[in-house]
Amino acid sequence: MEIITNSPKVKYSENYIETDYEYFTNIIEKQGNQILVTPHAEQITIRTERKVPKLGVMLVGWGGNNGSTFTAGIIANKLGLSWPTKRGMQLANWFGSVTQASTIRLGQDENDQDYHIPLKNLVPMVNPDDIIIDGWDISALNIADAMERAMVLEPILQQQLREHLVDLKPRPSIFDANYIAANQADRANNVIKGSKREQVERVVQDIEDFKQKNKLDKVIVLWTANTERFSEVIEGVHDTAENLKAAIDEDHSEISPSTLFAYASILTKSSYINGSPQNTFVPGIIEMAEKAGTFIAGDDFKSGQTKLKSVLVDFLISAGIKPVSIVSYNHLGNNDGKNLSAPLQFRSKEVSKSNVVDDMVDSNNILYKKGEKPDHCVVIKYVPYVGDSKRAMDEYTSEIMCGGTNTIVVHNTCEDSLLATPIILDLVILGELCNRIQFKNKETSFCSFHPVLSILSYLCKAPLVPHGTPVVNALFKQRACIENVLKACIGLPPDSHMMLEHKVPFLMKEHGVIKKVNGRNPLILNGDY
Ligand code: NAD
Repeated sequence: MEIITNSPKVKYSENYIETDYEYFTNIIEKQGNQILVTPHAEQITIRTERKVPKLGVMLVGWGGNNGSTFTAGIIANKLGLSWPTKRGMQLANWFGSVTQASTIRLGQDENDQDYHIPLKNLVPMVNPDDIIIDGWDISALNIADAMERAMVLEPILQQQLREHLVDLKPRPSIFDANYIAANQADRANNVIKGSKREQVERVVQDIEDFKQKNKLDKVIVLWTANTERFSEVIEGVHDTAENLKAAIDEDHSEISPSTLFAYASILTKSSYINGSPQNTFVPGIIEMAEKAGTFIAGDDFKSGQTKLKSVLVDFLISAGIKPVSIVSYNHLGNNDGKNLSAPLQFRSKEVSKSNVVDDMVDSNNILYKKGEKPDHCVVIKYVPYVGDSKRAMDEYTSEIMCGGTNTIVVHNTCEDSLLATPIILDLVILGELCNRIQFKNKETSFCSFHPVLSILSYLCKAPLVPHGTPVVNALFKQRACIENVLKACIGLPPDSHMMLEHKVPFLMKEHGVIKKVNGRNPLILNGDY
């Protein structure tokens, strides 16, 4: 269902939704012991392309738990599959996807009731059923067998999916035993041989081949392969796009497979998303993306424990309660856990999980002195028996009034790949949409978002942001950012949640003061907010 805004500020043409939008910020100046706040309105035009492209997604690590579950999920939903469980019939769905399974409050209907719509209906978005999938894996297993190996989906659903997945075979990938755990080496039977330059060229060919064969308008490449160790960022190798190019030509050993994939994606103008924690986006890659105007986003899917942490700590600190110790234990038994049992790969994950509370701590200088942080410890253990059902146990100890302490203990069973798969879907759907949104003001011509796509922070544990801009980890701020940007695309203001029409007598309906046109508030009808 298409949403049409009834406002002179919003124009619909065959190709675009174009809206004149007032973007409000407050400018702060410190003057002696006063703080001067100046509300500022920036007049901008936002243009959203209406035609949804034919989208292809290429997964690096296609045969892994996430890759196979994502592919299975697309097909199960497209075919409307259902299967018996002990609780009755289960129908395929996209629960856990913010685009497919969450709603937003659009306004009030004729009866003054809140009206919610699926977030995916705000602006034209790719339908998951239409996404074409391909990818690479160092393991040659076809996706049906990979799904079985993953042990994520119910066997009876796997049986229904097998015929649709058995002919899908991952392309050979770039493998460097130096970057993932040694315990993964026995999987590597499907690798691209040759120098780094040759490997990049092969990946570029793969992307072009996929695009051409499927007549795709756009391709997004997403890394859901094993977590790599951090690359040592070396001056003269990783620091500029030019040095990186030269280092690839020289076959430098300190360039990770993921960096080579990002490099190849940018060469083909395909957006690249990093679902793992490693530092794929070395400065040379960022410079290259900026110059090419190609989107990059990451790092590390925000699925279970970290998602909860970025809600809970936000709640505590914004309630004026001071978390002083956050201790997180995880154990998991899937191949991701096996890889993370090696110290260098665990270190990448530890770093990614560690900074998640920083922005919330920094936001409250009543609770925390400058530079003060809660103790924050993350432990991950490999326990094969629990498979994909990762356990996350967290203890949050906080200081409350007058020396009191409050301790919250959470036990979270995160069915890992079933949490990550909808996030992969959101990343590609929103990442694609960002390609179709442009901005301008009176002085400039239309431009896209900055190539470092921080609007996707909601879906990332360690959000990559444009240099010098703030990192936001707090989950509801991140979600509000997505919701409000999409609303802006159709000329709607952010939801203030003030709901004064239910609080202020002269605005309340029963006082008969609101004048209705066709049962609606004329302010909304005119779009004159
Ligand atoms: P997995 O081990 O099941 O899958 C990874 C796949 O990548 C394997 O099939 C492996 O063969 C393949 N691979 C390894 N190196 C490769 C390379 N260079 N090129 C191509 N393929 C390669 O892991 P998973 O559970 O699917 O998770 C994938 C990644 O997502 C991990 O890095 C994990 O840390 C990250 N992640 C997962 C979650 C989650 O599942 N909830 C959350 C955040 C991040």
